[in-house]
Amino acid sequence: MPKELLIQVAPEIAANDFLLKDHVAKMIRTSVSEVQHISILKRSIDARQKAIKINLKLMIFFQGESFTEQKIELPNYPNVANQQEVIVIGAGPAGLFAALQLIEVGLKPIVIERGKEVRGRRRDLKAINVDHIVNEDSNYCFGEGGAGTYSDGKLYTRSKKRGDVDRILELLVGFGASPDILIEAHPHIGTNKLPQIIQDIREKIIECGGQVLFETRVTDFVIKNNEIQGIVTQKGETISANKVILATGHSARDIFELLDRKKILIEAKPFALGVRAEHPQELIDSIQYSCDFRGDYLPPAPYSIVKQVNGRGMYSFCMCPGGVIAPCATSPGEVVTNGWSPSKRDQATANSGIVVELKLEDFKPFAKFGPLAGMEFQKSIEQKAWHLAGETQKVPAQRMIDFTQNKISSSIPKTSYVPGTTSVEMGQVFPGFLTQIMREGFLQFGKSMKGYLTNEAILHAPESRTSSPVRIPRDAQTLEHLQIKGLYPCGEGAGFAGGIVSAAIDGEKCALKIKESLG
Ligand code: FAD
Repeated sequence: MPKELLIQVAPEIAANDFLLKDHVAKMIRTSVSEVQHISILKRSIDARQKAIKINLKLMIFFQGESFTEQKIELPNYPNVANQQEVIVIGAGPAGLFAALQLIEVGLKPIVIERGKEVRGRRRDLKAINVDHIVNEDSNYCFGEGGAGTYSDGKLYTRSKKRGDVDRILELLVGFGASPDILIEAHPHIGTNKLPQIIQDIREKIIECGGQVLFETRVTDFVIKNNEIQGIVTQKGETISANKVILATGHSARDIFELLDRKKILIEAKPFALGVRAEHPQELIDSIQYSCDFRGDYLPPAPYSIVKQVNGRGMYSFCMCPGGVIAPCATSPGEVVTNGWSPSKRDQATANSGIVVELKLEDFKPFAKFGPLAGMEFQKSIEQKAWHLAGETQKVPAQRMIDFTQNKISSSIPKTSYVPGTTSVEMGQVFPGFLTQIMREGFLQFGKSMKGYLTNEAILHAPESRTSSPVRIPRDAQTLEHLQIKGLYPCGEGAGFAGGIVSAAIDGEKCALKIKESLG
């Protein structure tokens, strides 16, 4: 019988099949030749002690036992060219996985995306990085694959529904992601690998008779008697369908404004806001692994930290080991930061959003905007940062200790943020209460993570698109909008997901509810 085994080994043993086999054989008191094959089922790093260990869950197969490597197959997607049409607005993870699920249950998705196909997006990313030009339809947030395409591709989620998470990971493997994402405790894909996966998903949708329309922005909804009938595009074209999945992400401010204008119920939603901190990766490695050098067998270290300051959570968000800070504005006249990493996470610096949770009462100065108050609060900070840094895509920056001491930095070294930085006292960017929490919070971070609080760390502002500032409410059972029949608010922009995997899960859920409603 194959034997399941949980072990802790040194990193160099976990990284070498021969050493691992030898170690396992000794552990279970058998000869190496008796061990035919070892499958790794789960892998995580235990860095709590000075001698770092790798936790492995293994399945040992002995001589004479048959084993087959798990092969991930895509579902048998039918041709849906002549089936009932469902409009999916947005080709982010929520929209794309909704489209795949619709096909699986025999419905035809028409995916409508304001941005360009994944490769065409690259030119616009270059323009924002190098020429400071923001294309309002094609940027780090908008375009095929959505906000997650040019990201670190972290695939962990707080979702407790393991089955739902595993299904998304298996689909990603089916579309070309490394099978390692099925065994790693903290899987990620990387910016260099995601575009091909996204392209393959699109090609599958089209091959099955679905449609994908790029450079097509939805500008209006056709609604009669509180039932959706279709959408209108910026080209003036109407596309009809009585089922519409709205998966436009947290940055589609024009969609929030449209819903508000049309008196379709939306609500202000708290989110989190702060800065993006960048440290040398070697420094983070030495803190996390308690060592001078990481060595060959450990990956660039991530970190995760949370503190309560003045009754609010201040925490690391979307941490990218060996990554780059990206300009994520979606309109001219604003700056926004976020981060990405290549699959090897081999860049010299580690960056992370460090954000403070906001409360609805913080949006009071913007109360006249009703449900858009949080969005206007967010916008005002992004615009102020743009102005303070010189009205390009440069961002305000400050050394970490200087920030805690309210001292403008006399110099800012070159950071991974390509458009550049301007030395600004961060207190000017944020409302006083936020500055105060962040100053105190960084001091506390420095106490928990010795070496973290350093002037080698550079803060970039703002990190403001952490989640949607608006919720588009839906019925908990049918997932339809509370007022508009046939409209399915979906994914991160509607307030029902946070991250690639949970957005994909929500897309699938909406597609299944549509199928259910059709009987
Ligand atoms: P989105 O991905 O935002 O997709 C919405 C889509 O709708 C976009 O493609 C947009 O162009 C389109 N759209 C908007 N308005 C319209 C309109 N009017 N008409 C037609 N189309 C429209 N998450 C992780 O889990 N791991 C990470 O490592 C990670 N890193 C990130 C790095 C960066 C740089 C960024 C920006 C985000 C990152 N995220 C990460 C967050 C993650 O990308 C989002 O949580 C996720 O993409 C949300 O999926 P979604 O489908 O709900 O929305």
